[in-house]
Amino acid sequence: MLQIREGQCGLCMHFGESHQPDTKLIQIRQTHQAPEDLLDDCGHPRHASLHLRVTPISGCDGFEPARIQ
Ligand code: SF4
Repeated sequence: MLQIREGQCGLCMHFGESHQPDTKLIQIRQTHQAPEDLLDDCGHPRHASLHLRVTPISGCDGFEPARIQ
């Protein structure tokens, strides 16, 4: 499992934004841990048209904290 810190994709509201938050996404936000093979879409308006796929430990300056469900 990967440990996710503030500022990384796994805790960003844009991570997986293109689909409904599933159990996996909710667990990542609650536990700050994610499987090592996980990739998901970045829904940030500046990345969405490029269909950027990121890991939970990726990051960028567009980070906005996700709400805990
Ligand atoms: S690439 Fe940036 S905007 Fe997209 S999910 Fe990661 S931190 Fe958020």
